[in-house]
Amino acid sequence: MKTDIGIIGIGGRMGIALAGEVRAAGAALVGGFEREGTRSNETLFPDLTSLARASAVVLDFTHASAVAGNAACLAACGAAWVLGTTGLSAADEAAVTEAAKKIPIVHAANFSTGVNLLLALAQRMAEALPAASYDAEIVEMHHRQKVDAPSGTAIALGQAVAAGRGVRLEDVRESGRDGHTGARKTGAIGFAALRGGQVVGEHTLLFASATEHIALTHRAFDRGTFAAGAVRAALWIAGKPPGLYGMKDVLGLA
Ligand code: NAD
Repeated sequence: MKTDIGIIGIGGRMGIALAGEVRAAGAALVGGFEREGTRSNETLFPDLTSLARASAVVLDFTHASAVAGNAACLAACGAAWVLGTTGLSAADEAAVTEAAKKIPIVHAANFSTGVNLLLALAQRMAEALPAASYDAEIVEMHHRQKVDAPSGTAIALGQAVAAGRGVRLEDVRESGRDGHTGARKTGAIGFAALRGGQVVGEHTLLFASATEHIALTHRAFDRGTFAAGAVRAALWIAGKPPGLYGMKDVLGLA
């Protein structure tokens, strides 16, 4: 039987890519929900509740301000949720965790298979390269319309490095250096965000010691890479018990 999939934000950049990928995967696209005034060539439902009731799985790549409301609505309707929106506050994360008591959710800052392998490698490298001699820096670049920085993927890379070093990212994070910042702290994990043009997503994790540099780079040049991973997650999560899952679970890397 085909999995019924609905898309919140179906008129957006990711929404359009997701609709194409749902069809390519042979799943059933039931339609989408959009903010008032946003156009789409797809079937639009008048509200999220009616979309959720018609869908086994709802894909959501919209805006952080929508997350808490979507969490409550989808949990009440019982639809599974694939959440890719970034820039979530602690309160938004708490709303997702609460909803996961009632519905299955795949939540990932980046749905690309390559990036999820990179996250696993980042943790392994951080375990092997001592923080006292290898400085970790994360540089990302995205299109000029992106509203949050550093990107969710950059933060996920930082968390992977922190996990490998047995520390909390919040305790060692250095973001957006400007002015007289003082010398770099030993063990810091640094972030720099570039914005410009129509770059879909570029991330480099650099380990720099006095004697060598090791860099891992991922470049996404088509949103199809995120859309393909999200649809893979949607097909995987349909019918799963309630809980909060990640791409590690979907890809069998957990
Ligand atoms: P976009 O602005 O092109 O699209 C967002 C869409 O969501 C728009 O059509 C907008 O009308 C709609 N929307 C916003 N608020 C809504 C609401 N309350 N209800 C219904 N629809 C609403 O943005 P985009 O480039 O498609 O990115 C969307 C989000 O996905 C961002 O947070 C981005 O960072 C994230 N993203 C995540 C991944 C990943 O792999 N996790 C990949 C790419 C983008």
